[in-house]
Amino acid sequence: MAEQDILAICAFCPAPCRSALGEVHGATTETRQPSALALVARSALGGRMPVTADILARLGDLDTVRTCQSACSYGLDIAAALEAVRPRLEAMIDAR
Ligand code: SF4
Repeated sequence: MAEQDILAICAFCPAPCRSALGEVHGATTETRQPSALALVARSALGGRMPVTADILARLGDLDTVRTCQSACSYGLDIAAALEAVRPRLEAMIDAR
C-alpha cells in the first residue's frame, strides 16, 4: 500500500490506539498521536498548509507513533509512512 493511502486511513481513523495506550505513552497528546501527524502530513503534501521547520520537527517526533503501532487496529506502520514522505516534505519547506 502506498504511503499516501496509509496516511489517509490513519488521518481519518477514530484512533482506537489512543484509548488503548493512554496518557502513559503520550498517546492522548494530540500533537504526538499518529492520526494527528498523518493528517498534518497529508495536508502539507497536498499544499493545504505550509511546510515549516516547526511542522517538520513535529512530524519527526515519532516515539508515540511507534508505540501506537502495537495497538493499531489495521496493523499499519505509520512511523514508516511518515518517514517515507519526509524527503518530499523537506523539499517543500517554506523558508519565510
Ligand atoms: S495508528 Fe492505527 S489505530 Fe491508531 S489512528 Fe492510526 S490507523 Fe488508527
